[in-house]
Amino acid sequence: MDLGISGKSALVCASSKGLGRGCAEALAAEGVNLTLNARGADALEATATHIRDTYGVQVSTVACDVTTADGQARVLDAAGAIDILVTNAGGPPPGLWSDWNRDDFIAALDANMLTPIALMKASLPGMMDRGWGRVVNITSQSVKAPIPQLGLSNAARTGLTGYVAGTARQVAQKGVTINNLLPGIHATDRAVALDTGVTQAQGITMDEARAQREATIPARRYGTAAEFGAACAFLCSQHAGFIVGQNILADGGATNATI
Ligand code: NAP
Repeated sequence: MDLGISGKSALVCASSKGLGRGCAEALAAEGVNLTLNARGADALEATATHIRDTYGVQVSTVACDVTTADGQARVLDAAGAIDILVTNAGGPPPGLWSDWNRDDFIAALDANMLTPIALMKASLPGMMDRGWGRVVNITSQSVKAPIPQLGLSNAARTGLTGYVAGTARQVAQKGVTINNLLPGIHATDRAVALDTGVTQAQGITMDEARAQREATIPARRYGTAAEFGAACAFLCSQHAGFIVGQNILADGGATNATI
């Protein structure tokens, strides 16, 4: 299927690895020119080179922390007039509900709620003026079903979800859609970090930790960044213009809910 977005431009945040990279590659495969971002310059440049060489699109890079005001200004300045915005950042650390203090919550809110909101506030007016735009926020299955050890993520991402629910319905008349894509467990560095936490907490091996988590997924495997990116690219396509303000799970069926 031709997604109809060749020649458009996208800012994909936190995209040197993992799910953000999956989204960047899927958009590049459709001919979308990219601005990529991550804190570490080496992995970022390696990803940019791979995407340029593989897909022949223009790729610029901004090595910075996108959860800071300075980082947001830098990525927005480099990206210019974008058609597509994919927001993403690292997830908050795991812990118990009683662990976190005010500073921990502020950091999680900054990274996983206020950063995507700031990027949307900056990008939406131009998209609306031009009569076309797509925003996909990478959130988490924790929005639909809380993950006990990820209380910071549960809280911050649900706040973003509420903001998107109202905002998406105010910008849709201008040809701009905003949707959230909710990953379940995917085989990325983040999953390795969480599996490592399980090995330490339970005294089991990585293989055992992974098998234990795979058993909780009806698909009985972790998702891939490529699958996640393909779903993101579809939401950014011409064909997805009537999908507005939705929260779409990519979790192998792990969230046990009818709707
Ligand atoms: P990942 O494999 O660890 O990749 C994270 C990417 O984001 C890297 O490119 C990293 O590069 C970049 N990054 C992290 N913090 C950043 C920041 N402050 N500013 C700019 N770039 C930053 O993670 P992932 O698995 O793709 O996860 C992406 C998001 O989905 C996270 O919020 C995660 O919590 C959420 N999620 C993931 C899963 C899963 O199973 N993988 C499930 C549910 C939710 P640098 O480190 O160089 O900055």
